[in-house]
Amino acid sequence: MADLSTSLIHHPYKPPAGFESVAPGVHKASTIFFPTVAALRNRDWTHKTGYTYGLHGTPTTFVLEERLATLEGGRHCILVPSGLAAITLVSMAFLAAGDEVLIPDNAYGPNKAFAEAELKAWGITGVYYNAMDPQDLARRLSPRSRLVWMEAPGSITLEFPDLPALVEVVRAHPQAHPQGIVSALDNTWGAGIAFNAFDLGADISVHALTKYPSGGADVLMGSVITRDAALHQRIHFCHMRLGFGVGANDVELVLRGLPSIVLRYAAQDATTRELASWMQTLPQVERVLHPALPGSPGHEAWKRDCSAAACIFSAVFKPEFEPARIDAFCDALRLFKLGYSWAGPVSLCAPYDMPKLRQLGWPHQGGLVRFCLGLEAVADLKADIVQALPALTVSR
Ligand SMILES: *Cc1c(COP(=O)(O)O)cnc(C)c1O
Repeated sequence: MADLSTSLIHHPYKPPAGFESVAPGVHKASTIFFPTVAALRNRDWTHKTGYTYGLHGTPTTFVLEERLATLEGGRHCILVPSGLAAITLVSMAFLAAGDEVLIPDNAYGPNKAFAEAELKAWGITGVYYNAMDPQDLARRLSPRSRLVWMEAPGSITLEFPDLPALVEVVRAHPQAHPQGIVSALDNTWGAGIAFNAFDLGADISVHALTKYPSGGADVLMGSVITRDAALHQRIHFCHMRLGFGVGANDVELVLRGLPSIVLRYAAQDATTRELASWMQTLPQVERVLHPALPGSPGHEAWKRDCSAAACIFSAVFKPEFEPARIDAFCDALRLFKLGYSWAGPVSLCAPYDMPKLRQLGWPHQGGLVRFCLGLEAVADLKADIVQALPALTVSR
């Protein structure tokens, strides 16, 4: 080939086979070549037996999927561009017009927002239930109920539900939907480490890989994991039709974070428990919400079902502190940055207006601040809170 561009594009050199290193290869592709037309026609894009198009998997995405399935004790894994996309994918894969989806009132907010906007527009009814009361779920299930979301613990407020009891209510529902009812768990907090979602009865586990698996606060990704092949196929086909692809460089970042996930989880668990227990002793604080603390909602279920806890807790301040003073306290923090997400290296905090976020009520008067611990020394984080506390009472 004489033409320079053609010879650069169709260059005959192939590196020797057999290369192995710690990091899996980063394969980037939209196009994947087929050797013959027959191979192109015969390639099965529904199984991990080959490659058809970058959107449907590369060696890089398959490696991450297999490792995540191992992490969570599942069999099949699908990658999506964010944790929220994992939630919406599951809802879209199972729900049709006329169906009902049940969502805990303390669930991750955007799950509720998706139900209230898109799902509603598609003729699907969202029903909120109190995840701390299995009988409340039992009362709200109907013959139209098709999908039940669970989250352990609740976002922001960290009530730990009795998951086996909720699953049992779903299984025992006498007027079941003709296509069955599916229990899907948002497993981001447990991350496959604190408890095994499938052993506790979940059919589907969604995970915001953005949090612990990445660990770097620099990538967005999600996964949907199942043990059941039929459930997986249904989600997989919906995923292919929706075109939810992930970039190889982002997958590489998650693969890089994964080997240290167990160590990071344990380290952040220890510092978070220490800081949460200490926070409980502060006179300004009415209540600390963290499932490993005795007296926190769902502590008994947490103790029975979990071996660890994630890096989040929330503090409910005494009602005498006005919302503006709580904002000032958050503004005065220096190591704790203001921002969303968690399980990265930097500690974060954010105040939440709880009554606005709850459709079934919220029991506390005082303002709530969620703290997400990074990897800083716990003594420094304590000192940061101590120096910011005066902002609760005096104008600076
Ligand atoms: C962060 C989070 C999500 C969403 O993940 P993104 O990747 O930010 O979309 C879903 N559920 C829970 C519990 C989360 O904490």
